[in-house]
Amino acid sequence: MNFIKRYLTRRILQKHAIAFNEWHEVTRRIPVLQSLSTTEKVRLRQLSTLFLYKKTFFGAKNLAITNAMQITIASQACLQILNLNIDSFNGWIEIVIYPGAFRVKRNITSADGLVHHQNQSLSGEAWDRGPVILSWDDVASESYSLQPGHNVVIHEFAHKLDMLNGRANGMPPLHPNMTIETWSRTLSQAYDLLNHKIDNFQHSTINSYASTNPGEFFAVISEYFFTAPDTLFQYCPEVYEQLKQYYRQDTLQRSNRSLF
Ligand SMILES: [Zn+2]
Repeated sequence: MNFIKRYLTRRILQKHAIAFNEWHEVTRRIPVLQSLSTTEKVRLRQLSTLFLYKKTFFGAKNLAITNAMQITIASQACLQILNLNIDSFNGWIEIVIYPGAFRVKRNITSADGLVHHQNQSLSGEAWDRGPVILSWDDVASESYSLQPGHNVVIHEFAHKLDMLNGRANGMPPLHPNMTIETWSRTLSQAYDLLNHKIDNFQHSTINSYASTNPGEFFAVISEYFFTAPDTLFQYCPEVYEQLKQYYRQDTLQRSNRSLF
């Protein structure tokens, strides 16, 4: 970080810091944050302060946006970049929050050239270089009680990380100590196995939505990595290891540590 950027960052942290009482009051209700160390919580509050300074929130359907809503979303988004580049969520600004699930209508052109009309109800959506759109009902229910494998904030912001090097395809920019070959092979094998199980009506411990495409696979396994690392590790330790290297966090060790 150059000295001007460092100066500006410190200024934002000093002048716009999230009030500690408000921060504590909200984050103590979010189970996925409870296993963080004191040092990690301090860093998370700093990252969340910078996040809130840079992002704008818009309430759709006249939803009134509260500080608690913003902290709930910022803290879990920044949990993902706790040990990543501080600029990982740069390049876009707006977060749109609907009171509940929202409907989208669009035309999708499939590989065979046919145009399909989609009319879906969604809990979240992340646009390439555009906004993140979230349903507050879903954010609240998956933030304030632990729902293993389900966290719409982590899901949509994983898409944003994936989009840092182009469209969401399950391949975010990797670190120098990682290889594209190992990442691709490991995640492809797990993705193919999941699809094979679903095609053969077999039970899978991983949410079947992950089989939609490689981009959704990465977003869903990221949800498990932060909310149910033991399930992801048991399902595929090699995938867990790749996410551990990518996020630079050992969520399994952290969750075990918090049990003692
Ligand atoms: Zn998705």
